[in-house]
Amino acid sequence: MDKIKTIGVVGAGTMGAGIAQLIVQHGFTAFIFDVDEKTVTKAKASIEARLARLAEKKKLSFEEVYEAKKRLHPSYHIENFQNCEIIIEAVPEKVEIKRAIFQQLEKVCRKETILATNTSSISITQISGMIEHPERVAGLHFFNPATIMPLVEVIQGLNTAAETVETLVAFAKKLNKNPVVCKDTPGFIVNRVARPFYNEALRIMNDQVATVEQIDRIMKQAGNFKMGPFELQDLIGIDVNFATTKSVHASFYGESRFRPHYYQERMVDSGRLGKKTGGGFFHYE
Ligand code: NAD
Repeated sequence: MDKIKTIGVVGAGTMGAGIAQLIVQHGFTAFIFDVDEKTVTKAKASIEARLARLAEKKKLSFEEVYEAKKRLHPSYHIENFQNCEIIIEAVPEKVEIKRAIFQQLEKVCRKETILATNTSSISITQISGMIEHPERVAGLHFFNPATIMPLVEVIQGLNTAAETVETLVAFAKKLNKNPVVCKDTPGFIVNRVARPFYNEALRIMNDQVATVEQIDRIMKQAGNFKMGPFELQDLIGIDVNFATTKSVHASFYGESRFRPHYYQERMVDSGRLGKKTGGGFFHYE
């Protein structure tokens, strides 16, 4: 763990940007790359703005913010990751994209570099299936917002070495997180438990039992949830949530209790993906 100083993050969207911020806030250097250059620039600006807000709120000193910003390296070429000790992939929830990135990373970095994926549901064994050293691949699943949510799932694929898991557990603790080690099963722990939370809410809404607003209010007031299922889908990204539901359903060979709801697909098709597009189930300024 003492040798770990530099982390690469592939994908600068919602999760990649949050993870990179968390990393630089905890004294590590972060390189962040995205296939879309504008997204890298946007991620840098949003990380810096969030760090500045933490200083305004006196949660970090101005000096800590200055140092954290210096440790953040927007990167326009994945080749810049060659000296990273850990690389965390946070690209869309599609196995073919993730597999291609791991194959690319294997060519770029040292063979002892740990390659982690932030996948919500895809099998780690499947993602690492094509690469030469799958023992250094594991899941490192942060929750949204990555800087705030304390839980991190560390997922051990069938070929993941015990040392890889141990290093990632130690790394998560350095980031002040509570890691839990999971087996490589569809949706791991949290996303498996959470599927009915979203799916039943969509069915209740579509059956006109209650409105979106009522369901969210009831879950918060009576169920003591911090967010309702619709507000949470908007935060996650309805497209990201739908991709996870489809992946868990397919991985359980179509088990009906995980069946996605068509209304979620309609929302994705409409382009109203949640907070990131200014609207989803709710409207955002
Ligand atoms: P996102 O759509 O916000 O960001 C994905 C980014 O990956 C985009 O900026 C895209 O340009 C980039 N990308 C696409 N192909 C790429 C490639 N080949 N190389 C480099 N970058 C590429 O998605 P997200 O919400 O950040 O989710 C990323 C991963 O994290 C997914 O696996 C998702 O399931 C998981 N996850 C998401 C959440 C959440 O709440 N959004 C929570 C936990 C885990």
